[in-house]
Amino acid sequence: MALSLDARTPAGPIEQQWSTARFEMKLVNPANKRKYKVIVVGSGLAGGAAAATLAELGYDVACFCFQDSPRRAHSIAAQGGINAAKNYQNDGDSVHRLFYDTVKGGDFRARESNVHRLAEVSVDIIDQCAAMGVPFAREYGGTLANRSFGGAQVSRTFYARGQTGQQLLLGVYAALARQIGAGKVRMFPRTEMLDLVVDPETGRAVGIVVRDLVTGAITSHAAHAVILATGGYGNAFYLSTNAKGCNVTATYRAYKRGAGFANPCFTQIHPTCIPVAGDYQSKLTLMSESLRNDGRVWVPKDPADIAKHADQIAEDARDYYLERKYPSFGNLSPRDIASRAAKEQCDEGRGVGPGGRGVYLDFRDALRRDGEDQIREKYGNLFEMYERITGENPYRVPMRIYPAVHYTMGGLWVDYHLQTTIPGLFCLGEANFSDHGANRLGASALMQGLADGYFIIPYTLGHYLAGVAAKDLADPASAPFQAAEAGVTARLDKLVSVRGKRSVDSFHKELGHLLWENCGMARSRESLTDALAKIPALREEFWRDVTVLGGTDSFNQSLEKAGRVADFLEFAELMCKDALVREESCGGHFRVEHQIEGEAKRDDDKFCHAAVWEYAGEAREPVRNIEPLAFENVKLATRSYK
Ligand SMILES: Cc1cc2nc3c(=O)[nH]c(=O)nc-3n(C[C@H](O)[C@H](O)[C@H](O)COP(=O)(O)OP(=O)(O)OC[C@H]3O[C@@H](n4cnc5c(N)ncnc54)[C@H](O)[C@@H]3O)c2cc1C
Repeated sequence: MALSLDARTPAGPIEQQWSTARFEMKLVNPANKRKYKVIVVGSGLAGGAAAATLAELGYDVACFCFQDSPRRAHSIAAQGGINAAKNYQNDGDSVHRLFYDTVKGGDFRARESNVHRLAEVSVDIIDQCAAMGVPFAREYGGTLANRSFGGAQVSRTFYARGQTGQQLLLGVYAALARQIGAGKVRMFPRTEMLDLVVDPETGRAVGIVVRDLVTGAITSHAAHAVILATGGYGNAFYLSTNAKGCNVTATYRAYKRGAGFANPCFTQIHPTCIPVAGDYQSKLTLMSESLRNDGRVWVPKDPADIAKHADQIAEDARDYYLERKYPSFGNLSPRDIASRAAKEQCDEGRGVGPGGRGVYLDFRDALRRDGEDQIREKYGNLFEMYERITGENPYRVPMRIYPAVHYTMGGLWVDYHLQTTIPGLFCLGEANFSDHGANRLGASALMQGLADGYFIIPYTLGHYLAGVAAKDLADPASAPFQAAEAGVTARLDKLVSVRGKRSVDSFHKELGHLLWENCGMARSRESLTDALAKIPALREEFWRDVTVLGGTDSFNQSLEKAGRVADFLEFAELMCKDALVREESCGGHFRVEHQIEGEAKRDDDKFCHAAVWEYAGEAREPVRNIEPLAFENVKLATRSYK
């Protein structure tokens, strides 16, 4: 059965859609809110903001996360900043420009109405966070400071040194802790959601099944609505800038229960990461995009110079290739474009550092111009982090950087209300497919997570709950919950009973390598077909030969990892299928067959849509549905940053 993909976009001019929708949405009487139970899975910026705000409104909230504290959600890693169309710089910014930049930056593969709302709400986020005490950087006179990020010609990025995510998460955590203290949010840390429960009669999401990661206990939790804010799945690639725990489990299992999964192949490769240093590495480190405000990217023009020290290469022997190829945006070209350009230089033999997989990010000119104190003030902690990891001092020698997996634009399909194709199941933040199309602009993920959690879900969830009777709370001892619990237990038992010879990590690493080579920065029909032949074989070997030590009834990190890798092994196939069918290049999805002079070549006639995959059952081909995208406010055009 085809999925119903009604986006529920409000009628009328785009500037008025959100205010019209807010007025038209039904409300829940304040006295009744406490009668509604809401489950929020995830306590990062999106989930934490949602849980705190919904509890503040009066709902009875339960919030789950797998870390020992909500304070450790992966959002804490975000460095560079958060966008908002405040136009404090008076440099030409506006809500419309942020909307325009985001639609264009995403290579015309996002829904206009959602993106416009995001741009509108961005200004409220900054007010809210500043009022909560988030220590944004300030100018001398006390006003909030801004810097530039890729894909924009205005300075609209608010920041707190290189720790913006941490400071925003502290704000969210303070709001959440207040509600936990008030007894309005029950917090379940170290608890992993392993299944979604859908009522077979109504088709609505009615709860979840979780595992207590300390005791191993499996329990069911019922609610009137379930919100997933479980982050992105970049770790499918093994090496990425994501925290090691990031996974696809919650959204993938919701997909298997009927939630459409949109654009799984849309992965962001970030251009400025510390290059891979060796075979035993399990994690990559991002160097914030903010560094491209002052750092200049270059490689030696002559491959014969790559072994020389940077300071021995004369100015006219350097190729500042981003400035040369994209004069209007230069070093602030969007991520997909800057990443591909770095790969191209390295493929042509001009890469620097071990293995020739690196380009320089050089602060020499900025240090000369502004002085070391000013550069330290702006980027001190990033420079220190770089030095600690590489042993090289970026005040003296240029940084070496290379693209790495960083973010996933794909995710559960959601309509304008952020509801998935399962009524009562909502999805926020990086976990949904939402607003970034085929390429996310820097500093827009934090904006989207907080927009979803603080400003959108409080309205749209209320509208949904207004149509649900409070007495209709599912019974966690009922048959659908019991069946889901039995399935979860059987899968865990199966994982510990294989007792094979290969570690979970070795499978993950092999899968990640396969994905990077075949479905990474460049993809082709041949590479994707090859991956699609190899992934099922690897999955089969996993279930035959994986070793998971210990049992299911206690703390067991090997078991946690095994469950997540098992899901990656299935999900990877969906990523490759999606990439194979999308016979065009757009944003981060670069099919080598579809390019013009090295740039992505879209096919708007055939692919101006979101691809939404529908689970069809074990060993059956998933079904590809589409949500057509219309561009009425930003003209469909070939992206140019020249
Ligand atoms: C190194 C780095 C730097 C970045 N810098 C920036 C930046 O400067 N600006 C910007 O805009 N974006 C940045 N990003 C992207 C941004 O940080 C993320 O997209 C964003 O923080 C995601 O927030 P989230 O709330 O959606 O998910 P997360 O913060 O990842 O939170 C996910 C939550 O879900 C929980 N969870 C997941 N699965 C389960 C499960 N099965 N059961 C229970 N709980 C579960 C986790 O415990 C966690 O609480 C950066 C990303 C990285 C990797």
